[in-house]
Amino acid sequence: MKIIILGSGTGVPSLQRHSPANWLGVAGRQYLIDCGSGTLLQLERAGLSFRDLDGAFITHVHADHIGDLTPMVHAMRLPGLKREKPFLLYGPPGFSEFFARIVAPVAAPPTSFPFEIHDAPASWEMTGVSIRTLSTPHSERFASRAYRFEHQGRAVVFSGDTDDTPELAAFLTDADLAILECSTLDEAKVPGHLSAGLCGQRAAQAGVRRLLLNHFYPIEGPESQFLQQCRRHYAGPLALATDLMALTVGQDPA
Ligand SMILES: [Zn+2]
Ligand SMILES: [Zn+2]
Repeated sequence: MKIIILGSGTGVPSLQRHSPANWLGVAGRQYLIDCGSGTLLQLERAGLSFRDLDGAFITHVHADHIGDLTPMVHAMRLPGLKREKPFLLYGPPGFSEFFARIVAPVAAPPTSFPFEIHDAPASWEMTGVSIRTLSTPHSERFASRAYRFEHQGRAVVFSGDTDDTPELAAFLTDADLAILECSTLDEAKVPGHLSAGLCGQRAAQAGVRRLLLNHFYPIEGPESQFLQQCRRHYAGPLALATDLMALTVGQDPA
């Protein structure tokens, strides 16, 4: 599996950190996990294109995670787009209805190739990849899901936005790579989000083999504080995500 961080930030405008989006290459397919503002251009900067995507997995519909979803659907209707393979779009419970009410009226789904919209089930298989979801406590208004992708015995987890929850460690168990939201330092913890120390605690508890923190709100002072607070609990390979960072998990070059 190959992962490229397209956006390591939040909804706060930043020239260094775009809004949340990740590219996942697995089993010869290309997917997005979230599609925040700037995703389409970040794909281009990474040498990729929305044209080649096989699907997307939306963690939740907060604006910072879906800012480029409507423009992407619109782009897929452009004349001359040579594409036959289906596009599979998954989101948390209620996502299909959200798409119909909010996205489709201004960006009707393309009709020149199959375009499927699904509320993600708890688990399913897709072209050699096992996918599991976890309901995460984040927003009172919107359902949210973490996603776990397993392929050839390797596992990658994207937390999306989430507060701490006992189920998180179980969901992260033995993950080769966990990409966890790390909105704040511990002393600034806000409801609905993880803080740096909590990320470290859950990753250590779960036996996570490599931990990547992302989704940082701006802080006073150096971002290395996120690492220091996380490191108090987690001893394994650890890094802060940066935009366009690329990671490989297992042998599959995708
Ligand atoms: Zn967010
Ligand atoms: Zn959110």
